[in-house]
Amino acid sequence: MKESVEHIFQDLNMKIARLKILGEELRGDAPSQITDSKEKFQVVKPPFDQVQKKLRHYRHVRLVSESLYRALESSCHDHEKHSALVRLQPHLPISIGTNPYIEFKLRFSEYRRQAQSPKALGNASWLSLHTSRNEFSLGTGFNNLSMRKKFCKLVKSHNQETAEDPELCLGYIESDKISKYVVLFDDAYLTFGRSEPRSLVNLMEDVFSGPMVDSMPYERVGLAKQLASAMLQFQQTPLLRPDWNSEDILFFGKPHDRFQAREMFQGPHLDVCITRTNDDASGTRDSIADSGVGFIMHRWTFALAVMLIEIAHQKPITSLVSTYYLMSEDEQRWLAADTLCNDLARKLGSRYQAVVRKCLDKCLSENGNSGVEKHEAFIYVYVINELEQLKVWMINNDDE
Ligand SMILES: [Zn+2]
Repeated sequence: MKESVEHIFQDLNMKIARLKILGEELRGDAPSQITDSKEKFQVVKPPFDQVQKKLRHYRHVRLVSESLYRALESSCHDHEKHSALVRLQPHLPISIGTNPYIEFKLRFSEYRRQAQSPKALGNASWLSLHTSRNEFSLGTGFNNLSMRKKFCKLVKSHNQETAEDPELCLGYIESDKISKYVVLFDDAYLTFGRSEPRSLVNLMEDVFSGPMVDSMPYERVGLAKQLASAMLQFQQTPLLRPDWNSEDILFFGKPHDRFQAREMFQGPHLDVCITRTNDDASGTRDSIADSGVGFIMHRWTFALAVMLIEIAHQKPITSLVSTYYLMSEDEQRWLAADTLCNDLARKLGSRYQAVVRKCLDKCLSENGNSGVEKHEAFIYVYVINELEQLKVWMINNDDE
């Protein structure tokens, strides 16, 4: 046993050494210089209590969102799969009276692959779902939408298009007897209605190829922070695949000019596929179990690093690197990320580069299934909080 572990470590160390050499060859002799950034910074470590409070909060969101997923997967038996585009936000608990609740906003529909037809979009509903753990707070005569397993039909029968009340309360769904979620129409329908979502990768390819190149640094750092926060809210739950990527991040609206593009950037959604399962051995669980196998130990963090690099370069990573033969896909992607990371100070400053470097280091050393708390604290302190500090710095140094 001990020998096999040692063998794995030796093998890993050799791989890392090989990647480092290849990386240095690729970027030439000179090590990267972070001298072109006028920004000087030191990592700001938040107080211990604040970190603990945030970690409790992320844990709570994970519990609630997983339970919401279970409620949604079992509420409709007409469709095998559903698509939920979950709006990314801090998901702070809101207190009304003595009952704090968490609200999720999402566009829900029967699952369709990309390029949804206008008819399919007509079947999508914009919903707001919030927790309600207390039967009493629901009042009497409240409609249990889970009961007849016809969630889609019931929601559709209220017809969001013609509803007098844009925030009509439809009833509740439940995943077990304790966790209930109140379902309301969401007024995002009035703004986005049937508009088609565009993925982050699509935005980078189309919108940023023209005059908007190197634009909106503040919004891009904000998006990076939101993605890091989403990772802590959803990792290890069925909402977030370990290999999540910029195809999974969707935006609504039309980015015809800079003003509209700014608005759009502030409303990212996560594409979640909800698959109905009949027993506990679901595919999602298998993929989580597999996520720590191989060269990259924490896949969610690696995926985050790749997206942060793409946001800085405003290009999909696949368009920035060539293929190296005789290497595994993981090795190629890691090498590409490692090489591109050295160029980030020029794009979004040295603090941003340091954040991405931390993610790249961390994804090699930490397993997704162990040391969860340590990993979360690390991401909160060195990624989320640092990106927030960078946003503050950008506002203070805005010359426009
Ligand atoms: Zn359905």
